[in-house]
Amino acid sequence: MSEGSNRDIKEAGRSRVAVLSSHIVSMASEKDAALAAAAAPVPSDSPTIFDKIINKEIPSNVVYEDDKVLAFRDINPQAPTHIVIIPKVKDGLSGLSKSEERHCEILGRLMYTAKLVAKQEGLDDGFRIVINDGPNGCQSVYHIHVHLLGGRQMNWPPG
Ligand code: 5GP
Repeated sequence: MSEGSNRDIKEAGRSRVAVLSSHIVSMASEKDAALAAAAAPVPSDSPTIFDKIINKEIPSNVVYEDDKVLAFRDINPQAPTHIVIIPKVKDGLSGLSKSEERHCEILGRLMYTAKLVAKQEGLDDGFRIVINDGPNGCQSVYHIHVHLLGGRQMNWPPG
């Protein structure tokens, strides 16, 4: 084997390690954020960072908004398209596990919005929606939300 191709193989190996390491760091920080949130439990109607986004007190990249829901690009995207969809009024719905029958309308609205935004984003080959719940589900923000992920091949099982 020539010295050049040896160098190419080493280079490819190094960049694969770099990609894997950045993945692991990102996975670790998501988990850390979820564990930190769980370690400081708050009442289900306490405001979160998402209230500041709804009230436009902090900027976000909004892709869809109506009177009930807001959809904006995730600050730490896990896919080429990663959008967070939230209800404007959470009504005690800090997470899916807190849902009651009266929340069916908003839960359905979040799902339907995911479909609308997926279409708007051109995710015609498919997408994934995720709802993290609680510490084991890696939830870090206690205002119910749907993640819409797309633009790449998803894997199964999820991590
Ligand atoms: P969870 O981990 O609770 O399922 O998801 C919360 C998501 O909100 C995370 O993916 C995180 O990156 C995102 N996020 C947290 N803070 C902000 C923010 O200030 N702006 C935006 N755009 N996304 C945020």
